[in-house]
Amino acid sequence: MTHAASKSELFFHQAADHLGLSARFRVLLLAPERDVKVQVAIRLDNGEIETFIGYRVQHDNARGPMKGGLRFHPQVDEDEVRTLAQLMTWKTAVVDLPYGGAKGGIAVDPRSLSKGELERLTRKFVDQIHEMVGPDSDIPAPDMGTNSQVMAWFMNQYQTHHGFQPACVTGKPLELHGCEGREEATGRGVVIVTDRLMHHLGQKLAGKTVALQGFGNVGSFCGKVLHERGARVVAITDHRGGVKNANGLDIPTLLTYAQKNDGVAGFPGGDPMTNAELFASPVDILIPAALGGQLTAETAPSVRAKYIVEAANDPTTPEADEIFLKKGITVVPDILANAGGVTVSYFEWVQNRSVVHWPLEEIRGRLETRMSTAFDAVWQIAQDRKVPLRTAAYILGIGRVARATELAGVS
Ligand code: GLU
Repeated sequence: MTHAASKSELFFHQAADHLGLSARFRVLLLAPERDVKVQVAIRLDNGEIETFIGYRVQHDNARGPMKGGLRFHPQVDEDEVRTLAQLMTWKTAVVDLPYGGAKGGIAVDPRSLSKGELERLTRKFVDQIHEMVGPDSDIPAPDMGTNSQVMAWFMNQYQTHHGFQPACVTGKPLELHGCEGREEATGRGVVIVTDRLMHHLGQKLAGKTVALQGFGNVGSFCGKVLHERGARVVAITDHRGGVKNANGLDIPTLLTYAQKNDGVAGFPGGDPMTNAELFASPVDILIPAALGGQLTAETAPSVRAKYIVEAANDPTTPEADEIFLKKGITVVPDILANAGGVTVSYFEWVQNRSVVHWPLEEIRGRLETRMSTAFDAVWQIAQDRKVPLRTAAYILGIGRVARATELAGVS
């Protein structure tokens, strides 16, 4: 490593070294196109005014309009949004979508707001960023703390400025130009690549034991599809607690339980467990599907899984990644593993622009094909260059962005 780099850029430089990219070109690829920070003030239900900070970072548009979620979470800050925007650029390139990368967010705990307050916050944020987003420039989508309802408000508020443009945002409700299977897409995509990994290793996903950190949108659909494909989910933790059962958790019953009880804690079909225990579970596959920065120099040494599939964005620090490499643990990186969400977002955008509606089976089939094709391409690079899957995925993603940048030239 010859280049000064922030922690999150180390993975970039490992791949850029393989691609032989010059220092100047790296600066061009790394720097965001635009980085916006706004003050979002709303009136609370009690009549008082509260101020939040909102962000939209547009990282790169060499391959097309910028694409990426909107996160509502107390930990959102400029650094995190910049890192996540950059990950979106490599992610859309890995699955070969005609997009660049962006990310946005508001530093807020959405659970602390009423529905009306959340709506006012979303609409005010749209008022402040509407000029920089749009179907041909930057298309937001759900991320942690946001959902299809937030996207519906987004679309409706955008419409007050620019007229009817459903393709200005993805992850919308089905009744409002949304796409079949968008909600399950990230979790399903994680399982598709896990299945594909097993296939390349000459193994079967059915019968494998899995520990899952997180049971929100991504984690819960991941658990559901794993269960459908015969894997045994033996441990799950979420923001309120955890549950384990060595014989395999009854996922359909747990899904209903978690919805009613705001989490998996106290589920009668298993015993309580902590996050630290989950990481150290003697399972085949560990799936972090919660916040970033979970697998660190402190937590990584305890991991006993053979495979890690990164459903979350940025869950592994470079130190932890090094530890996994030494331990012989195979890591399927976030920019490949969780690309199912943005892939189905792309399907939604295509349908909105063509005014058509594809059935669920078509979406699932297309997702399966795209994710498998991307996995196979990354696997091949890893074999050819004898590099870990993360480096291979970055080589594929950065390579595509670098070629597009070079071909387009500078005006
Ligand atoms: N927020 C998701 C991600 O991190 C989806 C982004 C999108 O659909 O644009 O990939």
